[in-house]
Amino acid sequence: MSTRLLLIGPPGAGKGTQAAALAEHYQIPAISTGDIFRANVAERTELGQQAQRYMDAGEYVPDDVTNAMVRDRLAEPDTASGFLLDGYPRTADQVEQLDAMLQDAGVGLDAVALINAEPDVVVERLLARAQEQGRSDDNEEVIRRRLEVYSQQTAPIVDIYRERGLVVDVDGVGEISEVTDRLIAALDKHREAR
Ligand code: AMP
Repeated sequence: MSTRLLLIGPPGAGKGTQAAALAEHYQIPAISTGDIFRANVAERTELGQQAQRYMDAGEYVPDDVTNAMVRDRLAEPDTASGFLLDGYPRTADQVEQLDAMLQDAGVGLDAVALINAEPDVVVERLLARAQEQGRSDDNEEVIRRRLEVYSQQTAPIVDIYRERGLVVDVDGVGEISEVTDRLIAALDKHREAR
């Protein structure tokens, strides 16, 4: 059985960690646009050079660049069994483009997992991560901007998926394994109900 999932949540909600756990559980590739951008920045590719200044400022990389990258990634054969997209789509244009990609492939989404976390909690987590990992976009000013961009551009797209009956809400506060268990339980329940 194939599983196609999206994972949405504010920066610092634990998306990356939970994406890896869900991918393992459902045996599907986790595709993180943030990770792909970071890898390209590290390798100094043209894509990385295009993306870096936006990332460092806490802004979104332009839709055309991001959409083309995801289209290429979803054309890889490992997505035949499904996929989990972590951090995509994040804008209304990306939702439209993903719809087109899925329609071209003749497939649909199973669910959109929304990890909820309060801004205070996520800022604290991100500042802690800044100390541990030294990510260049984890300083307080850029963190605030990333949260602002999330609430302006990404929070509204959740409604599009909510209207389609795809959203599964999960509380992102707690131990990592607790949140993973909640996600799997909620996703399985959603699937059974469909
Ligand atoms: P993340 O690791 O998901 O927090 O992403 C890190 C950064 O990569 C974001 O702050 C954006 O600059 C960029 N990025 C990741 N995914 C997207 C996306 N879907 N659209 C635009 N920019 C993105």
